[in-house]
Amino acid sequence: MILIDGKKEAGSLRLKLKEEVNELKKKFNDVPGLTVILIGELAPSQIYVRNKEKSAKEVGLNSDVIKYPEDVDEKTVLKKIKDLNENKSISGILVQLPLPKHIDKKKIIDTIIPIKDVDGFHPVNVGNLSTGYESSIPCTPLGCYLLLKKVEPNLSGKKALIIGRSNLNGKPMAQLLLKENCTVTITHSKTKNLKSECLEADIIIAAVGIPKLVKGDWVKKDSIVIDVGINKTDKGIVGDVDFEEVSKKAKALTPVPGGVGPMTIACLIKNTIDCFKRIKSS
Ligand code: NAP
Repeated sequence: MILIDGKKEAGSLRLKLKEEVNELKKKFNDVPGLTVILIGELAPSQIYVRNKEKSAKEVGLNSDVIKYPEDVDEKTVLKKIKDLNENKSISGILVQLPLPKHIDKKKIIDTIIPIKDVDGFHPVNVGNLSTGYESSIPCTPLGCYLLLKKVEPNLSGKKALIIGRSNLNGKPMAQLLLKENCTVTITHSKTKNLKSECLEADIIIAAVGIPKLVKGDWVKKDSIVIDVGINKTDKGIVGDVDFEEVSKKAKALTPVPGGVGPMTIACLIKNTIDCFKRIKSS
């Protein structure tokens, strides 16, 4: 079984991105700038933002975090986003989710100018991805896609099954796999007999949020399984896939932690650089 080492792949991607930033610096006398807006004190969000800032700096980006208290009003955040949209030294804007209840997520996402939307959540980027135009691609599915291509460069004709249909993971993942000519099935909480759907698949992407949902007898021999899940349990962080069982059947599998997670952050850096390049050529 191939253990898909996301930590190693993310490290190589960051190295490549660092070289690219050096080249861009020579060409434009400027480097990409990422600004993250963090609202409130949620511990996981604080950790994610710290890791994003660390990676951005490591690769040579200008990186900045703007922090607001939990009770900040929506107007203040929207005004800040509009200022960042206009700011020429910023190429990427990210508002860390989840947001406090009194702040409208859709309004926030819609206010970020699409060319600086490093998360790829703006409807313009979602539309561009689904119509096959250039766009920012949500970081986690992009990371899954890059890992998948590493173990299986030719995905054409493969049966791919995605568990979960969120805007963050399942839906953009389906677009990426369709573009690769996979036959894609998207499943969700109302899907009947998920096990038999899984048994048909050459590729399974599990993005559900249920610890160890996918069992060994759910997967076809020699399938490729990408586990997006990050679930906190008494026994630590586990994925949506039963690693012990599935590793005995699959051809390749991502571990949790150390699989998709590190690629997500590396892809955020990639997206920031790609936004910078689009801004410079627009
Ligand atoms: P989400 O928005 O809660 O979506 C979960 C999806 O799973 C929904 O579409 C839901 O169906 C579906 N689902 C729930 N129960 C199911 C079941 N029994 N059978 C089949 N499908 C079921 O979650 P998300 O934001 O996509 O995140 C999914 C997981 O990925 C979480 O563990 C999260 O922590 C993790 N994650 C990891 C990374 C990373 O960097 N590795 C990044 C983001 C998220 P309905 O639509 O019908 O409700």
